Amino acid sequence: MSSSAKHLIVIIDLNPFYWSDKVSSSATLNFKQYLKIIIQFCNAYIAFDINHRLTIVGCSNNETCFLYPDPTSESLIIPTVTKTNLFEQLFVIDRIVENNVKEFMQNVLPSQTSTGSMITMAVTQALCYINRLIRDTVPGEKTSYRILIIQTTADTSKQYMNFMNAVFTSEKMNVPIDGCILNNDSSLLQQACDLTSGIYLRVPDPNGLLQYLLWLYLTDKDVRKMLALPTKVAVDYRPACFCHHKLIDTGYVCSVCLSIYCDNAATCTTCRSAFDVNSSSMSTASGANDVSRRQLR
Ligand SMILES: [Zn+2]
Ligand SMILES: [Zn+2]
Repeated sequence: MSSSAKHLIVIIDLNPFYWSDKVSSSATLNFKQYLKIIIQFCNAYIAFDINHRLTIVGCSNNETCFLYPDPTSESLIIPTVTKTNLFEQLFVIDRIVENNVKEFMQNVLPSQTSTGSMITMAVTQALCYINRLIRDTVPGEKTSYRILIIQTTADTSKQYMNFMNAVFTSEKMNVPIDGCILNNDSSLLQQACDLTSGIYLRVPDPNGLLQYLLWLYLTDKDVRKMLALPTKVAVDYRPACFCHHKLIDTGYVCSVCLSIYCDNAATCTTCRSAFDVNSSSMSTASGANDVSRRQLR
């Protein structure tokens, strides 16, 4: 391996729910074209630089799976790409991803398709995988890591806590998270990209997905300085309350463990602290960064 390898972990949202109501419409992208575009992007990433390494993780409403390198091979070893076997590797990626997606989609539970995707689980798996690769690095080798999330389904605020924990871990590990969403804007993905210095984009026209992917996500942060990037929009930093998992503008914060509640509660369900609900010193907080103090009984 070269002394400065760049490793991209692509997380693909494969939830069939998003595609089910688009079957009748021929004007926009279908699932097959979506998958083809992502494989084309992955091929372009491998062909772009001999030092590029690739991992693909798929997630649906109930499961996540490593699509490449082949999870059936020994402990997810990434095949070495050289100048002589580059094109052979592109063919191998196509074949492995296609077979694994087919197998993966057979395990999707049809009864739960209306729920969001397991993006959090996929990000956590990707971080564990990166951690293992860092641990196994030979002294003298240098590899930088990056995660790209391609999301189609809407956010589920139930994942808020775990997702934000994964994002903070990623920030600590110096792994930028890039986000590309085909649906409506995602508040969680925006926060993840902003906190880890990644690029967030809501694709205005899904038919141009490949162009957007090649423009923004092929390069790492050093090259991005030279690119004309999309203008940054204001990030929606609303947190989700711990009681109903709803995104809130104003809420109550536990002064002991910083858990957030949308309503006035007598005890904190996280740390079991009891509050004086009638105390005049009780105040509210807006946003995750504002911490109000609550009177402990
Ligand atoms: Zn609540
Ligand atoms: Zn608490």
